[in-house]
Amino acid sequence: MTGLGTIADDAQYRVLEAQFRAADSVALLRHVMNLLGLIFVWAVFAHCCSPILLAGWSVALIGTIMLGLWLDRNRRLSANVGLTARDLRRHGMGGLALGLSWAGCMMIVAHAGETEELVALWTLVSCIMVCSAISYAATPLAATAFLLPCIGGLFAMFGDGLQLPLHALATSYALSLLAGCFIYARTFAHQHSSTAQLAEKSEVVSLLLREYEEGGSDWLWQTDTMRRINGASKRFAETLGLPPEQLEGVPLVQILAGSAWGSGRFAAGLHSLADHLKRRESFSNLVLPVEVAGKTRWWELSASPRYDDNGAFLGFRGVASDVTVQRESADKIAQLARFDPLTGLPNRSHLREVLDQAVTAAGARRPGCAFLMVDLDRFKSVNDTLGHQIGDKLLSEVARRLSKACRGQEFCGRIGGDEFAVVVPSALDNHAIAQLADSIIAILSASYQIDGHILYIGASIGSALSPVDGRDSEALIRSADLALYRAKDDGGGVHYAYEPQLHAKAEERRLLELALRAALEKDQMHVLYQPVVQADSGRVVGFEALARWTHPELGPISPAKFVPVAEEARLIAPIGEWVLRTACTEALNWPDDVRIAVNVSAEQLSHPSFVATVVSALAQSGLDARRLELEVTESVFMNEDAGALRVLDQLLGLGIQLSLDDFGTGYSSLGYLSRTRFTTIKIDRSFVVGASKDVAESLAIIRAVVTLADSLGMATTAEGVETEAELAMVLALGCKKVQGFYFGRPMSADDAGALFLAAPERLIA
Ligand code: C2E
Ligand code: CA
Ligand code: CA
Repeated sequence: MTGLGTIADDAQYRVLEAQFRAADSVALLRHVMNLLGLIFVWAVFAHCCSPILLAGWSVALIGTIMLGLWLDRNRRLSANVGLTARDLRRHGMGGLALGLSWAGCMMIVAHAGETEELVALWTLVSCIMVCSAISYAATPLAATAFLLPCIGGLFAMFGDGLQLPLHALATSYALSLLAGCFIYARTFAHQHSSTAQLAEKSEVVSLLLREYEEGGSDWLWQTDTMRRINGASKRFAETLGLPPEQLEGVPLVQILAGSAWGSGRFAAGLHSLADHLKRRESFSNLVLPVEVAGKTRWWELSASPRYDDNGAFLGFRGVASDVTVQRESADKIAQLARFDPLTGLPNRSHLREVLDQAVTAAGARRPGCAFLMVDLDRFKSVNDTLGHQIGDKLLSEVARRLSKACRGQEFCGRIGGDEFAVVVPSALDNHAIAQLADSIIAILSASYQIDGHILYIGASIGSALSPVDGRDSEALIRSADLALYRAKDDGGGVHYAYEPQLHAKAEERRLLELALRAALEKDQMHVLYQPVVQADSGRVVGFEALARWTHPELGPISPAKFVPVAEEARLIAPIGEWVLRTACTEALNWPDDVRIAVNVSAEQLSHPSFVATVVSALAQSGLDARRLELEVTESVFMNEDAGALRVLDQLLGLGIQLSLDDFGTGYSSLGYLSRTRFTTIKIDRSFVVGASKDVAESLAIIRAVVTLADSLGMATTAEGVETEAELAMVLALGCKKVQGFYFGRPMSADDAGALFLAAPERLIA
């Protein structure tokens, strides 16, 4: 600060303060020097100078010193009001007055003295100038104000032309002093301005930190070089539930370890912290468990080492925060992400991880690990009839039983719906896997008692063994899935281990499905009609429409093969609709009392537009509804689907006849018969064959069905009668209608129509 401008900011003010502090510290030296100078003048020059002039000069000098003292005093008194640039200018005035006084002295002495006096005077003046330059070094205005009159005095002193070199030397000496003053003043101002800024910054930082600690959930901590807590903050102590004094000087790691400090069994996070502290490395977001009042809390710590200006290590300073809540919710989320919320069992992704690990660990070992897929049988019917609440409870109980069955090294989980799975990390052999699977099936098939209901479900299991059935998890799951498919296909309740043929079968099925999608469009399908005759008279009373598919390359494909594929691929509805429309139209060519029977899959029946489709087929063909018979199997009741029963009632309402197909092959519950008004019960060919071979069971079943059907006013049709003997037997057992190769194979529409032209009353036999 020169004092010529105004003070712009706080930093400049701090520089100004420093300038005056520096000036004041050497003011006494200046005053003493001046007084000594005064004495020197009297002692050395009194003999040659006028005493009056000297006395006048002395009064002026003393006055000037007094003025300087007075100005300084005034400034100090008003310091609490604040320093301004004017103070600097006043200080400069003091310098000017002093400079003028000494210039006056030079003039007086130079005028009166000889060379000898001049040398003495120069010595004195140079001393005074150096001393004043030093004392005014921090205030360049005062230094200039002092030195300029002095330079003027030098003119008077060396005014004589002969002394020009001396004059030049003295003037450059004074100017160098002045320049030195300026250089020093600049360095001084710069240094003080950065110190001021630094002080300001650290003040702001500490203010912010204080606010941070008071307001936030975080707190600060600091250690010394020995990693001991140093200057423990209030919040830090509060969080630990201890007084700050108790923390002081205790190693940070010891505080955080709590009771584990004695045992030495530290959490991994604490080890990591200790490592960082030892290596003097910064760290951030280090989460570790901390014992606070006997409970485990989770803290997150970040810190960096501190060094002094010389680079010496001072310790660590950092922040900490309690992240227990976040950590707990993160744990909960992780738990949710890995476990099935209903059963508490590991979920699909968790199971997959375990399988991945097991496969990797097993490597090429034979046998490696095993994967079992468990699917519940008839679960859907419980869920549909008794509701999801009971369904959920049943699943929980299944999970409990499964966990019990997997007590060894087996790891079980739920992969969705009614599917569960088991990972056996190191399987013994196929036999052991089969044993485990059988025990699971047995335990899951035992009766369940839930909310007053006694429930029976079963389980099917498909298993695969690494590395033979799959080298990675993906392949192993696929193999187990195929084996499960096979078990399900077999009616459920069994375990199948994967075998390579299953894969080929699955592939064949996939290709079949692909071809079937295009079959209708490509006109590869047609319908054949098999006559149904009155048992006693042999009169044709109807035909069963049977779908046929002829693939251009694969040739004719049996419906026994493609219908299940169509059912699974949801292709049975369009195929069934096409058969229905075709058959209805064809039936119009036959006598009015001849019925047409069309097979309907359970899948078709559950289709919401099924009744509308039937109505449309009848309307479009103009066929009387009473001539249409729909054949359903017991499987429509399996899903315990109230919707299916309603649809059957709607169909009956339209005047359509219903028959129960393949009776005896499925679940064979006579209860179904009382639920719906079937016109006919069709007895499966297997019973006809059995009965003809005198198998007691077959005979008993046919007898029972015929008796029951008679009592309920239903007819019975014996299916698959091939021989006369079989015909005689079913006739004797009381079957009303017969269908089979004996009377006619499935035939084309033309052949079917021709039957009536050739022999309208009787057929073949
Ligand atoms: P299904 O309803 O039990 O049909 C009777 C099956 O027995 C037919 O086999 C028929 O050709 C065969 N059959 C008839 N008489 C004899 C006999 O004396 N001896 C022997 N060994 N077999 C005889 P097909 O045509 O192969 O049909 C198999 C199954 O495919 C049918 O069994 C039926 O469930 C299903 N199906 C056929 N067409 C359709 C259809 O249009 N829709 C639906 N949903 N299923 C159909
Ligand atoms: Ca049938
Ligand atoms: Ca049948």
